[in-house]
Parts: sequence; structure tokens; C-alpha cells
Amino acid sequence: MEIIKKKLAIFGSTGSIGRQTLDVVRAHPDRFEVIALSAGQNLSLLSTQIQEFKPEYISYTRRDNNQPGKGNKFLEPVEIAALPEVDIVVVASAGVSGLVPTLAAAKAGKTIALANKETLVMAGGLVTQSVADGEARLFPVDSEHSAIWQCLQGEETFPARLFLTASGGPFRHFTLEQLEKVTPEQALKHPTWQMGKKITIDSATLINKGLEIIEAHHFFDVPFENIEVVVHPECVIHSMVEFPDGTVKAQLGCPDMRIPIQYALSYPERLNSNQFPRLDLTRMVKLTFETPDESVFPGLKIAREAGEKGGTYPAVLVGADEAAVGLFLEHKISFNDIPRVIEETLSVHTPTASPPSLEEIIFAENWARSKALHVASGARI
Ligand code: MG
Repeated sequence: MEIIKKKLAIFGSTGSIGRQTLDVVRAHPDRFEVIALSAGQNLSLLSTQIQEFKPEYISYTRRDNNQPGKGNKFLEPVEIAALPEVDIVVVASAGVSGLVPTLAAAKAGKTIALANKETLVMAGGLVTQSVADGEARLFPVDSEHSAIWQCLQGEETFPARLFLTASGGPFRHFTLEQLEKVTPEQALKHPTWQMGKKITIDSATLINKGLEIIEAHHFFDVPFENIEVVVHPECVIHSMVEFPDGTVKAQLGCPDMRIPIQYALSYPERLNSNQFPRLDLTRMVKLTFETPDESVFPGLKIAREAGEKGGTYPAVLVGADEAAVGLFLEHKISFNDIPRVIEETLSVHTPTASPPSLEEIIFAENWARSKALHVASGARI
């Protein structure tokens, strides 16, 4: 049987998920081909990637005198997302920048492998509607959502509950007093996953898990009250689904993002990954589960509530979190100030009529960033 190579456009190719996506391509050169690479600021890594993968099209945000890829065609992200020859659009760009290319890819009827959380959190309604209108397909890359997606394969019954697993981060058993003193350097040391800075801090505050609740709500159309978070420090079970008969299905594997990335690219097939680590069940002493302590990690509850309110609240959550994490990384606010700043910003937001337009969503996110900076300047005592 002849194998047809899937043609990829990768947004955020120089980031953590982008680099691991290229690892998957490297492992399966007979299955995938890179048509376009798009990056933000890291032009030197982009140049290296261009030499190795020889994409026809490139895009980048930063402008300087040493522009990479002189022989490649430069296109804007929205043009890349709609290229007729592209089969799969991988959206791994950071923050808000993933939203517009995702909508363009949806409109063009592409298969979208979505790693960018903010896109669904801020604009879940718009994105799922565009995917339906454009007859596109939206596949999760985030390990938890990939796990749920895998558990739902072959099932015709709507799930009763989703259980998102959380590592608990580096400060799992800390008290509020201990958390007040943690530094960005300590928070950036995640016990299990290697990720970008923003998401590592979000994992430490558990806000990442709150964002994932909203993401899961949009991906699987499950009501918020049926989505639960379970702390599972071993990070072996990536998430679980409970069905009406009480059966719970879990997906297990090594905590290696290349596995869910590859599944989104090869679906419905599973490719060999002998080069990636494997689970050794005999070495696994035990698997443990805890309820997250929302009195110590209020960010989880704040994020869930913003998701339940809907409208522009999730966009405000994203913007305020982005600003607060930035301030924490610059040593300007404490770890516990992060959820405080977000909560206060959300409390002064005046929502627009629901459902919000793309412009209203982007405006709310921008408003929240500057409002959060303002709130934080007052929050510093
Ligand atoms: Mg995750």
C-alpha cells in the first residue's frame, strides 16, 4: 500500500511543542512533510529548522537585518493556515497568537492539531462554530485532552464525567505561607514535564488545570459540573473518562509530549515510537490520587468560575494571567499575588453581550493585561 505523506504547517515551530512536533516528523520522514514553518522571535533556531526541513513557506514576527530563509516564500500566518496543499495545521504558538490562524484553518476546512490552550479558552464558541461551518477537524494535543479523546474512541455514549489529572506542580504540599516566599526560579522547576516558562508557572498555580477545564468543556461539549480535577503526582495516567455505567477508562503512558503530538498527526492510525520512552509497569511502585486544595491554590477555582460565566470572562482570565505571570517572573509580585491579581481583574470586568465577537474577545484580553498591571501596582504592599 502506498503511504501518502501528510503535509504539515507548524505554527510556533521554535517553542517547546513546535520542537517536539519536528521530533515526530524526524522520526517518521516517510509519513510527514513540513510545508510551512512559522515562529515568533527565535530567528536563529528557525533558520536551523528551515535548513533541515526545507519548508516551502515561512513566517515570523520579529523583523531584523538577518532575516532567515532567503529562498523561502514569506506568508502571513492566516495565508499559511489556508494553503491548499496543507493537510494538518499544528497550532503550537504561544498565547493569543494562535487564535487567528486557528480560525483561518477552520474556515479552510483543515485538520487542526491544537496545542495552544488560550485559543479554545478565550474563543471556544467561535472556534467550534468555525470548525463546524468549515467542515474542519479539531484534534487535541494537550496530554490531558488527548487522553480523553483516546478514551472516547469507539464510544457512542456521552461521558458522565471527565477527570483531568494534574501533577500538582512543584509546591503540592506547600502552605499559603510557604507559597508566599517561592521564587520564579523554584516555580520554574516542574517535577515531571519540560515546558515553556508561562505554562510551567501556570502548572505551579494550578491555573493551567483551570484553563484545561475550559478547554475540555469546548473540546468535548461536557458541562463544567461534570469535569473534575484529580491530583496525580506520578503523571502516568494522563486523564480519565467515566461513563454512565460507572466504567472509568484511563489513558496511560510516559509523560512525553511527543506521544500525544504524534497521535494528533497520525490519527486514526498509531505509529511505532520505539525511539520514545516506554512505561515499565513493574517499576511503578504505586499510583496515587488527591483532591486539589483550592484554599491553597485558588487559581483553579477562579479559572473554573471564569469558564462557567463565559462570554468575555475567559479572555479576561487569559489576559490577566499572562500579565500576572510576567510580573511574577520579573520578581515584581509574589506567587500568591498571581491569583489575587487575576481575581480582582475579573471582578472589575464589564462583560459584553454573549456570545462575544472576535474583536470583543481580543479587546477584553488586551484590556485585562493592562488592567492586571494596574491592579498589581496597587496589590504590592
Ligand atoms: Mg496539559
